[in-house]
Amino acid sequence: KKTGRIPFIAGNWKMNLDHLQAIAFVQKLAWSLKDAKHDFATTEVAVFPPFTDLRSVQTLISADKLELGFGAQDLSQYDSGAYTGEISGAFLKALDVPYVIIGHSERRQYHGETDAVLAAKVAAAMRHGIVPVLCVGETADDLEKHGPSAVPVQQLRDALAGNEAITEIVVAYEPVWAIGSGQAATPQQAEQVAAELRAVLTELLGEDVAQATRILYGGSVKSGNIAGFLREPNVDGALVGGASLDIAEFASIAQFSK
Ligand code: PGA
Repeated sequence: KKTGRIPFIAGNWKMNLDHLQAIAFVQKLAWSLKDAKHDFATTEVAVFPPFTDLRSVQTLISADKLELGFGAQDLSQYDSGAYTGEISGAFLKALDVPYVIIGHSERRQYHGETDAVLAAKVAAAMRHGIVPVLCVGETADDLEKHGPSAVPVQQLRDALAGNEAITEIVVAYEPVWAIGSGQAATPQQAEQVAAELRAVLTELLGEDVAQATRILYGGSVKSGNIAGFLREPNVDGALVGGASLDIAEFASIAQFSK
């Protein structure tokens, strides 16, 4: 990218692949990227498996010195205590987890995560030195009522409230209507919102952090449409759901982003 931001292709596995499947998958993905002579310095690639896979994936990546990155799909806003079922940032840090997805639309929708909770989760990630991959995006209803950028811009503002000292964050613009629907946004739509999100980052975090921040597009990304998104000046990669579960397809998406 012109600005020096290294494109980032992130695979959100959602609730798919147990730890044994994850080991086989990551090995095959690593081989596939190696065969394709993937240059990780040119395009960063990471997978986001379920919590129960993280230990296996981390062990495999470190033992085989794989350049593949990885992250968790969520974390608790708290560091420890009586929060049954929750996973703290401290536990993720103990596994050297570099990234954590925060505020995916499925968590907002099915787990009632509010913007205030998400701001607390961003703060938790910051406390433990884990880079948030913060997801924002409008529903079809929001799009009709408020246009494409009002809701994601407000979600970004709310998640950053009190967290203005953050120095590294990834933002994923994922229109909810495009997720898993096969109906991706157009590159122009993604760029329009990404540019507005970057303006908010500049206002809240300053020019340097805003310019260094990768803004991803997510929602029905596949090998056939990734190139168009990556040509846009403010789109620095993709958060890939369904297509990240197909090794050849995901490797091919990563290859396009050179
Ligand atoms: P999709 O999901 O690529 O299957 O549309 C994207 C996401 O939810 O992150």
